[in-house]
This record gives sequence, C-alpha cells and structure tokens, in this order.
Amino acid sequence: MGVIKHVDKNMEQTHDIVWNDCLNQIKKEVKPQSYKTWFDPIKPIKYDQDILTIQVPNKFFYEWLEQHYLELLKRVIKNEIGPKVKLEYQILIGKNDESGLKSNARVSTSQQPKADQLHSQDIKNPFVIPGIKKLNIDPQLIENYTFDAFVEGDCNRLARSAGLAIVDKPGKTSFNPLVIYGNVGLGKTHLAHAIGNAILERDPKKNVQYVSMEKFSNQMIHAIQTNTVNDFLNFYQLLDVLIVDDIHFLANKVKTQEIFFHIFNQLHQSHKQIILTSDRAPKDLDGMENRLISRFKWGLTADLQAPDLETRMAILQAKMAREGYHIPTKIIEYISYHIKNNIRELEGVLISLIAQSSLNKKEIDVTLAQEVIQQFVNKVNKEVTIEGIQELVSENFDTSVEQLNGKSRKRNVVIARQLSMYLSKKYTKNSLKTIGEYFGGKDHSTVIYSCNAIKDLLETDAKFRMKVHEVERQVRVSLNSSVEE
Ligand code: ADP
Ligand code: MG
Repeated sequence: MGVIKHVDKNMEQTHDIVWNDCLNQIKKEVKPQSYKTWFDPIKPIKYDQDILTIQVPNKFFYEWLEQHYLELLKRVIKNEIGPKVKLEYQILIGKNDESGLKSNARVSTSQQPKADQLHSQDIKNPFVIPGIKKLNIDPQLIENYTFDAFVEGDCNRLARSAGLAIVDKPGKTSFNPLVIYGNVGLGKTHLAHAIGNAILERDPKKNVQYVSMEKFSNQMIHAIQTNTVNDFLNFYQLLDVLIVDDIHFLANKVKTQEIFFHIFNQLHQSHKQIILTSDRAPKDLDGMENRLISRFKWGLTADLQAPDLETRMAILQAKMAREGYHIPTKIIEYISYHIKNNIRELEGVLISLIAQSSLNKKEIDVTLAQEVIQQFVNKVNKEVTIEGIQELVSENFDTSVEQLNGKSRKRNVVIARQLSMYLSKKYTKNSLKTIGEYFGGKDHSTVIYSCNAIKDLLETDAKFRMKVHEVERQVRVSLNSSVEE
C-alpha cells in the first residue's frame, strides 16, 4: 500500500500536483513512445472529493486507456494519491488532434464509470448504441465480383481456398486476418469482394463492409472534423466482416494507423472476420507501425501471382461467356499470349477489341487483335529510346554500343549502326539531327543515307530481313514488359 498524500483540496492546481505525481510513476513503467502517445495528451481538470478528473481527447482515447492501462492507472492512483481516490474522465472531442485538423472543440460531460468500478466487460464496446445492430448497412460490395466469376488457377489457389474457408466460418478460422497481396491487376479486389458477397449470400443478416483504405482514412478525417469520431468507431466496431482494400495506403499515416489498429483489435478480439489486401507482403510494408504489421501476420497471408497462359485464356473465355460474346479461340490465345502480368490489362484488350470490331465493322481477327494490343500497350508504355535501340541492335549484331558510336568501318558494325539509325527513325520521335548526334555526332544526311541503305538491304536480303524482323519484335517487346512472344 502506498503513501497517502494529504492534499489540500482547496488549494489551486491540486489536480496538477497529484496528476504529476501519477505521471512520474507512469513514466517509469511505460515505454517513452506509449507515454508520449497516451499520457502526454491527458490534462488534469480537477481533484475534488476524492475524485480526480482528467481530460482526454476523445472517447477512443478513453477506451484505449481503460483497455490498456486500467490496471496501471488504478495502482498508480492508489499509491500516489490514496486508496479511496477515483478517476473520472472528461472527454474533449476533436481538439488538438494529431492530424492537425481543427474542429470545433466541444466538452462533453462524461458519464464514464469510475476507474476502480470498471470491469473490462463494461468497457468492451462503449460505442455500440443498443439496437444499432439491427441497422441495415450497405456492404459496398460489387455484385459481379463473385467466386463464380473468379477463375481458379495455380496463381490464386491458396488465396481462393482460404477465401472459401472463411465463407464457411467467418471469423472462426485461423485465417484472421486474411491478407491477400499481389501486384496490381491480379485480382485482389475481386477476391475480397467475392468473399464478402458469398458471406452475405449465406447469411444476409451479417454486417459486411467493404472499404478502401483511402476511403477509410477520409472518413476518419471527416469524422474528426465533424466531431463524429464516435459514430465512426461505432460503425466499424459492429461489423461482422470488415474488408479493407489496399492497406498499403496506410503507410506513414500515423493517425489512421492508430485508429485502424484500435478497430482491428476490437473486431479481432470478438472473432469478427477481417480481410485485407495489399500490393506487397506485410513484412515489406514501409511506413507502418510494427505492432500493426505483426497483427497482419496473425492470420494467413496469401499472394496472388501472375496467371499462367491457360488461366489467362480461361479468364478471357469466362469473361466473354458472361458478356455474351464469341471470339475465336485463336484470338483468345493470341491475346493471352501477349498480355501476361496484369488481368485488368488482359480484359482491357478484350473489351477494346470488341469495341473496335463493332465500331469499325471489322472482323475480329489476329490483325485487329495485334492492332489493339499495340495501341493498348502503347498507351501505358514507356517510350523506345535511341539508347534502347542501340543496345538491342548491338546484342543482335555482335557489336557494342561504343562501336556503334565510333568510327569503325567493319561491315557488321556499319550495318548495325545504320540499322540502329533506321530503327531510331522508325520507333522514336527524334529528329534526324538528334539521331545523328547520338551516333558520335553524325549529321542528318548520314542518317538519311543510313535509312535508305537499310531499306535497300531489306528489299534484297531475305536473311537480313528476318534478322531485322526479330530485332523489331524485340523493340516492341521492350515497349512493355507484359508484351512478349
Ligand atoms: P487488383 O485489386 O489486384 O489490382 P482486381 O481485383 O481489380 O485487381 O482485378 C482486375 C481485373 O481482373 C478485374 O476486372 C477482375 O475481375 C479481373 N480478375 C482478376 N483475377 C481474376 C480471376 N482469377 N478470374 C477472373 N477475373 C479476374
Ligand atoms: Mg484493387
């Protein structure tokens, strides 16, 4: 039992003194970072009739203290002030928020239970308004993103079956959270929606919510600005299934991470299902608090990889069947062969192909597919550079870039040099003058001469023509890593 301090209740600032004593003790027991986060912002308000009133920034903060530091607070207050002393909170919503957003500070009189009367059960979820569970919430799910429309392949098998297991028993499997990660356009969003849709299909009463991390963050900022943080928290804490897309958006957003961490813990503790997607594995998420990353690793982390050729074809075929189109398998194969690393792009080509064909009343054939792929790919593509062409040509003609730019008159070097100029003219937007400059300061007439020499050779030499054809193919490939043959 600690020393009972005899504090003069009438003395001004008594609350400061007693609270300072408490803080000195707390400081010794918690990590500096936690102290800064959770105790620095507390303001003692009054000490009267054995009740110490402290002001905390918001309800969330209050709950956090009660959940994590209740024992510590009770002990310290008893030791530093006295065994009969009780703690009361006053909640100041929205003021001095970490996000730096100014909102109308409003003091709400607290009716919080006194600290030593609190049991963890009482404070388990103070934000849930009785009856709100009956509310119908819009799950924000895209209906078309279903398991039926999600083609299975080696690339997604683990994530897909984990998803299906979750549908069977949301929150009750060891896949909580389920973290789906993978590069852009590989189906993370689709799969996450599919899980949500399937859960609702089985049990329409479940509170399922899909939200992108960006939207979550904006909602939170809005809640802070409008003093509705509690509503915000209430809402998320009553969910049965929370799906958060693109959690990498959390990087370096301290406040959002904090609130998300809180919601995550609440839901996880009550065995509610959490599904997250990310563009990288949790361990590679930069700018993220470790405690959050370690939570992400609690369940299952499953990656989505680029689909193989068969899966790409199956995806296109399924898509066409749904849209009611028929396209020859040869074309499907052609597209699938060329677009490898992004399913969104794969679908983009297909849609564009259908559009082109109906707009221009053209048959869908390989030539049209080729055109569309080229266009599509060019849109998103890096440009071909003179240097890039020089490298490709020197590789194919057993020379070096230095030789191309030098003065050697060896036949293979001369041809390679002329071809590089020809391809630079054909594939880049550089002027003849610029092209000449790249080749050791030749003038524009040399470039014209070279282009003509190559044209002649292409007409007369079949072997050369084949070789150039191959280099040109490589140039187009270099336009986009996902276009290959
Ligand atoms: P991400 O969120 O990983 O960037 P999306 O989920 O948005 O990718 O997927 C991009 C597109 O590819 C969507 O139209 C989606 O329907 C489609 N898609 C992805 N994976 C599959 C799959 N396995 N089967 C069918 N369509 C898929
Ligand atoms: Mg996505």
